[in-house]
Amino acid sequence: MICLYGRGVASGYAMGRAVVMGAAALEVAHYRIAPEAIDAEKSRFSLALKDTTDELQVLIDTLPADAPRELAALLNVHQLLLSDPLLTDETLLLIEQRQYNAEWALTTQGQLLGEQFSAMPDDYLRERGADVRQVVERVLHTLAGTGALGNLEAFTQSDEPLIVVAHDISPADMIRLRGARFAGFVTDLGGPTSHTAIVARSMGVPAVVALGQVRTMARDGDFLIVDGQQATVLINPPAAQTRAYESMALQYAQSRESLLTLRDIAAETLDGVRIGLQANIEMPDEVPLALSQGAQGIGLLRSEFLFMGRSSLPSEEEQFAAYQSVVQQMGQRPVTIRTLDLGADKTLDGEATVATNPALGQRAIRYCLARPELFQTQLRAILRASAFGKVRILIPMITSLSEVQAAREIIDSVRNELTAKGQLFDDHVEIGAMVEVPAMAIAIEPFARAFDFLSIGTNDLIQYTLGIDRADADVSSLYDPLHPAVLRLIAGTINAGQRQRIPVSVCGEMAGDARLTRLLLGLGLTEFSMHPRQLLDVKREILGAHSNALRTKVASALNRADSIDPDHLND
Ligand code: PEP
Ligand code: MG
Repeated sequence: MICLYGRGVASGYAMGRAVVMGAAALEVAHYRIAPEAIDAEKSRFSLALKDTTDELQVLIDTLPADAPRELAALLNVHQLLLSDPLLTDETLLLIEQRQYNAEWALTTQGQLLGEQFSAMPDDYLRERGADVRQVVERVLHTLAGTGALGNLEAFTQSDEPLIVVAHDISPADMIRLRGARFAGFVTDLGGPTSHTAIVARSMGVPAVVALGQVRTMARDGDFLIVDGQQATVLINPPAAQTRAYESMALQYAQSRESLLTLRDIAAETLDGVRIGLQANIEMPDEVPLALSQGAQGIGLLRSEFLFMGRSSLPSEEEQFAAYQSVVQQMGQRPVTIRTLDLGADKTLDGEATVATNPALGQRAIRYCLARPELFQTQLRAILRASAFGKVRILIPMITSLSEVQAAREIIDSVRNELTAKGQLFDDHVEIGAMVEVPAMAIAIEPFARAFDFLSIGTNDLIQYTLGIDRADADVSSLYDPLHPAVLRLIAGTINAGQRQRIPVSVCGEMAGDARLTRLLLGLGLTEFSMHPRQLLDVKREILGAHSNALRTKVASALNRADSIDPDHLND
């Protein structure tokens, strides 16, 4: 038996036969062509581009109605890349000027583009480097006349559950894979925001990524166990281990099923403290999932997702339509729209600047204050949507009171402008701030006075407090949500909110981790916002917890400066 460790990006257990997907990167010949062959080589490349584009278009047109929306969006990104002059024109130039054969020219240019993406500050954009690689591979396959999915077709007739084993999985491949019965995904590459992760989560299929060598270790037909919980993959385990996993998988399925019965029950601790449970979403079409899991509101709409993966900015009307759709679908439940949290990002405006340290650069509110028109357009769209329900505005990465004042002045000017134009909006839209920079959490009092609510972004708060890049795999073992410094900043923020009588929520990943629910309750938290699929797990923890007892335990542990073991809060 072989056991590999990776990152669990979609939970659950899967058991089945391995289907090892085709070559990770094609071996391509590199040679120079004769001057008289240049035109023919350019045509060969252009034809391959066209065929690949047509092939993708067929996939888009025949997308099953129930296909996850991410697939369509990601395929469109691939279409855009296929027509991007940086890929197409530059490759043609390499054929013409350096007399490279088409494959060599394309891989050279693809590598250059991929490196540019890798240097980008934003996690999402950095991972789009994988899209460039996948698009390049697709065109290389077309040039070579081979398919990218290798032997998959041979397995689609199988009655047994299948586990897809790949170096990486492109969105187009994902569509093909839907036709087969597959129970899990395991890949060499990828992270929490890679395609495999995004699509697997939206399908509710377990996935482990970043396994490094799984594609070389597993062979077609090997029996695999995918453990999304422990982030492991077992290749050909002994029968006893398989039986143990079978019973764990059964229990897991039963517990998922029984969780749904909690959907309409109020989240209240044993001693009667009511807890608010809201959902984090990125796009309007995630609202039905949030509602199906009993979300009482949207605690975080990451609006930057409307802006990413496209070549032009969404207009005010397009943004308004998206925000209005969320608000209307949520009825009277609150919808918290976070203003843009983008970093130095060249896909929006063609700026090629890459900050030395983008996480500390012109990001989020800093980015918006430097681009007042972009900010005003978004604020107009958000305020207009407020006429249709309960909207709250959430400002990310606030660090200083001067930013608060500058943001408020812009919001006021947009309000005046809308009033002058006779546009309807809610005059009492609440304005809140993300607490994600330690400076704000340490000097919290005036910030708590300046806002109507606060939302703690633990993902960034941990990164900035501990000095650990949240996207750097080399230091991920040091990324510690339980560090006493982090817990004190959370506690201090919650206490300040109580003193100022404003709501404080946590919307970072900590809020959705059911192992930390008791700890957060013990810190006095009463508002949680998380990925919709985590809501019911967290609710189950809340229903079995005694808030007052937890508060006493956690307070004394914090005073002793111990690091807290969340497992010790279970009794
Ligand atoms: C956070 O930082 O915790 C957060 C919720 O925001 P994001 O993950 O989008 O930075
Ligand atoms: Mg953040």
